[in-house]
Amino acid sequence: MPLQYVKGIGPKLAERLAGKGLTTIEDALYFLPVRYEDRSLLKSIKELVPGTRGGCAGEVVVSGEVRYGRRRGFEVVISDGSGILKLKWFNFKLQYIKGRYKQGVRVKVFGNVTAYGAQKEIIHPDIEVLGGDDDPAGLCGGGGILPVYSQIENFHQKTIRKIIDSIVKGYAQSVVGAVPCGVLQARGLLPLAEAFRKAHSPGSNGDVGLARRSIVFDELFSLELGLALKRRAIKREGGLALGGGDEKILKRLGGLITFELTRAQRRVIREIKRDMAAQYPMNRLLQGDVGSGKTIVSLIAALIAIDSGHQAAIMAPTEILAEQHYLTIKGYAEGLGIRAALLTGSTKKTERSECLSDIKDGTVDIVVGTHALIQGDIDFKSLGIAIIDEQHRFGVEQRGSLKNKARKGGKGEDLTPDILVMTATPIPRTLSMTVFGELEVSVIDELPAGRQPITTRLMREADREKAYELIGKELERGSQAYIVYPLVEESEELRLRDATRMHKHLARDVFPQYKVALLHGRMKGAEKEAVMAGFKEGLSDVLVSTTVIEVGVDVPNATIILIEHAERFGLAQLHQLRGRVGRGERSSTAILLAQYSGSEDTRRRLKVIEGTTDGFRIAEEDLKIRGPGDFIGTRQAGMPDFRTSDTFADLGLLRMAREDAKAFLDADPELTTGEGAAIKVVLRLRWKDRLSLAEVG
Ligand code: ADP
Ligand code: MG
Repeated sequence: MPLQYVKGIGPKLAERLAGKGLTTIEDALYFLPVRYEDRSLLKSIKELVPGTRGGCAGEVVVSGEVRYGRRRGFEVVISDGSGILKLKWFNFKLQYIKGRYKQGVRVKVFGNVTAYGAQKEIIHPDIEVLGGDDDPAGLCGGGGILPVYSQIENFHQKTIRKIIDSIVKGYAQSVVGAVPCGVLQARGLLPLAEAFRKAHSPGSNGDVGLARRSIVFDELFSLELGLALKRRAIKREGGLALGGGDEKILKRLGGLITFELTRAQRRVIREIKRDMAAQYPMNRLLQGDVGSGKTIVSLIAALIAIDSGHQAAIMAPTEILAEQHYLTIKGYAEGLGIRAALLTGSTKKTERSECLSDIKDGTVDIVVGTHALIQGDIDFKSLGIAIIDEQHRFGVEQRGSLKNKARKGGKGEDLTPDILVMTATPIPRTLSMTVFGELEVSVIDELPAGRQPITTRLMREADREKAYELIGKELERGSQAYIVYPLVEESEELRLRDATRMHKHLARDVFPQYKVALLHGRMKGAEKEAVMAGFKEGLSDVLVSTTVIEVGVDVPNATIILIEHAERFGLAQLHQLRGRVGRGERSSTAILLAQYSGSEDTRRRLKVIEGTTDGFRIAEEDLKIRGPGDFIGTRQAGMPDFRTSDTFADLGLLRMAREDAKAFLDADPELTTGEGAAIKVVLRLRWKDRLSLAEVG
């Protein structure tokens, strides 16, 4: 129900609340306090510490109106025998305060204690008259533990508290949670309605932690239950059973590669093969650190499909990457006896129509392109597998459009192609199944042997010359270098060194004897490609770039990367950037140049990067620092809105929710028992049309 129909909240107030994202009663219930304040612990005035929050009780000694320049204000001085405290209001309900705090009135106050010289003060305190009539404004809301909410416009906390409190009193009891009673009991959690009540008004001895955990668990449980349903629904779709033939082409690949597959590569290939052989469509995520060898795994998957008489499509997020994949595959194609084609936005019209007809009649076995590939007018003879590289947000809609492709192609069969999504974004195992929704997850957790180590060095602005020296040394040896900036254009405010301006400076003053190229996101596709290709061929020595080089770019001769404003990048991003070097025979260096503004947090984060090159460890550390909310923020499209993600930091809870959801669904796969049916209704409300329960039955 919209908030504006709640008694006491009109359209005007509702509009202001909407500014904070509160439009329904449910929103208000999920608007959990940011912290709690224990008001039962009053101190003496003497004990109040400036710079902290605190409260005390005292008697009004003197009060009256004052002027601070042109501003009008009101001051009250109270005393409790241990000291004197001044309370100040500026233009704040003056007429209302005026009559209330006369000499001799006893009050209880709470707020941020400041000091003006030796004088302790609280500006705009929460205040309550003691002994007399109950404070009609309820500024302190009584003693005990009080919820403190995130600020809404210029509402006083008291107002926010009153609004939320009346909603909790009026509606919390009619909330229905998604967690079955048995699970609540087994886990010692509260029903959702009670949890909301306790979280918003814990009283004097409320277990706020338990209340919040219960609310988060409820949400995680319905998330996991929905995801499990989706995965099961996919397993019921018709899919091609691929592989299991004599696999001639795949065998030829064995003769072409010069290395042994790692154990992890062989394991994920087994997982992929099992899915591809099944009658349902594969829907799998291949996760592996930078340089772990995902490309060869995806090629093997493609060849399994081709060996079975179908086609494969590989999609990359940028033209640069599509081209790079195409070149890799073309290198093998002849030896394998297959035909590969490249199809991107800049493919010429005539070439494009020829290419499309080759794809349609099956002349082309494997087509590489950008994501536009699946949105366009492309028609396959029979698409067996779609491989999607570096796409974090591959979602329900794309899957739908692929489904259509297979329907139109094929031999009149109504089948969905296998889907393999690849990502180098390290996401802790505990989270990836949730972040990637209905995808099954395979992980390559091992790098090929004999990789050259990357040395990471954390530097400050004062070390800039030293950083340039290190780069100069590498260039002297004929190696190449990246210099990366976080922004394209100068921003006065953040004082970031902008790539364009620094490019000029570096080319003219720092490395005048070398060729310094510039690459940034505002350049046109063809221009970018030319710069990139030039760098790859060694036509330029230094590539000054914004983060467009982040994913997948592979230039083995680059052995040093300088990342400017490292403090502005996330850990995962830094790890990705660093992975641009260390791809050749020589050992490499990554320099993180950071502008600390005294932030310990920043230092800690960067120390993690300096200390390890293991992407998964970095992700785990990142998780500890930031909490899982950010990871779920990178979730794929088609997930329900997540209300409590940024408030939970407990992965154990997520694991529990997943286990419990699975067990519940195993016992009642169709959600038809009394409790199951009720929970299905809740799921439908929360997931809306993102969960096609119709498919589930
Ligand atoms: P990423 O997982 O980052 O996409 P790539 O697939 O590009 O990694 O692999 C990086 C490099 O490692 C490539 O040059 C590839 O040929 C090579 N490679 C892949 N697997 C192995 C292996 N098992 N042993 C040695 N080198 C390998
Ligand atoms: Mg790759």
